[in-house]
Amino acid sequence: MKLTPVEYYRKVFSLLEQHHRWFQESIPLIASENVPSPAVREAIISDFGNRYAEGFPKERVYAGCRFIDEVEILCMEMARRLFDAEYADVRPVSGVNANIAVYTAFTQPNDIMMSLSIAAGGHISFGKKQFSGTAGSVKNLEVEYFPFNYEDMNIDVEATKEKILGRVKTNQPLPKLVMFGGSVLPFPHPVKELAKLFHDYGMTICYDAAHVAGLIAGGQFQDPLKEGADVMTISTHKTLFGPQGGAILSKEMYAETLKKAVFPATVSNHHLHHVAGKAVAFAEMLEFGKDYAEQVVENAQTLAKELYSRGFNVLGRKNGFTRSHVLIVDVSEIAYGSEIERRLEDSNIILNRNLLPYDIKYGRHYDTTGGIRIGVQECTRLGMKAEEMKQIAEFIQRVVLRNEDPEHIRAEVADFRRRFQKVHYAFETATEAYKYIRVRS
Ligand SMILES: *Cc1c(COP(=O)(O)O)cnc(C)c1O
Repeated sequence: MKLTPVEYYRKVFSLLEQHHRWFQESIPLIASENVPSPAVREAIISDFGNRYAEGFPKERVYAGCRFIDEVEILCMEMARRLFDAEYADVRPVSGVNANIAVYTAFTQPNDIMMSLSIAAGGHISFGKKQFSGTAGSVKNLEVEYFPFNYEDMNIDVEATKEKILGRVKTNQPLPKLVMFGGSVLPFPHPVKELAKLFHDYGMTICYDAAHVAGLIAGGQFQDPLKEGADVMTISTHKTLFGPQGGAILSKEMYAETLKKAVFPATVSNHHLHHVAGKAVAFAEMLEFGKDYAEQVVENAQTLAKELYSRGFNVLGRKNGFTRSHVLIVDVSEIAYGSEIERRLEDSNIILNRNLLPYDIKYGRHYDTTGGIRIGVQECTRLGMKAEEMKQIAEFIQRVVLRNEDPEHIRAEVADFRRRFQKVHYAFETATEAYKYIRVRS
């Protein structure tokens, strides 16, 4: 049935408002999401979003950028402070966009890049051409995987050394770029342990901190730039407080190369309302980041222990399950990850399926994953602590292990959520976190 224009128009707003109500009553556990403060939301509906400012502040090829330049300069300054970096570029419009800029700066087509496979926690932007991954499809890079240790849930340092030195001995080409980091990153990666070897053989080291940027800024995770990474890419909206976006941090010596790799190579206009949003989010992070990041890691560890003690196979037990915001649970003995994802969604508990490092070996793929991924950063921002983690573990247990009626759970979840409607770790906290902001009269 075709709708009339005004029906389409009304329908869109009705769906938006329903979405807001749903999230007010749900438990948000997707590891790549967060809730911005009302202040960030105000910045992103400003007129900045309707302007063009190609180039770098004070070097624009457009007029009308007087205030935009000032905001972008403040934003870059705060990014450098947060990550103790010499250069910050806040223009990439997403984490993938930031990675493409880094590939552009440091590689040529057909070069080799080393990164984690997607099953082992890598991201599609590291992916091979045969899987339509970004590195392969967009930059024609050959991707070599890091050897991975399932029990440690981490890169295998010795096997990586052997892999590189084996290639040296047999005169095979070496990677030009090494990409640490990933989308399932419970433990710090061995940047310190491997940086010297990679540098000795002329490789550039990037660390993709899309997921853990807020924990790094809060001083609660490894500091890749101090440990030997040359450059770091981030998303601004996962553990950080920002609107969706990306950024690049590096040493000064790469500034000119990266600047050109962003504009004109891979970004035209750079979503200036989101630059304003990033600036507000970075100010919040400078002020509240340490307390927030500490609570995130504590909550993740608490939730992992609570799930484990209720019979869930949380991976990484040997190393205390997690040192970041994320945990990964092997549910393959219970049902497919996709099935569990759906049952939990019916109960208003929102998380996502995830491949386990050994899923491919068992013939499992995206529709049949053996795992689910859980992130606690958004719940932490809503003010939740140990007691709430325990309650969330119990809800998950009742849905997944006891098959309780989703309708009952939904009502209890809504009740549980009622006390957590405000954003914490922000300068202003009066407006509700998921309030639908109406601008129409
Ligand atoms: C989420 C993610 C990205 C992509 O970020 P977007 O902002 O969604 O483009 C890049 N790398 C890793 C490791 C990620 O998890």
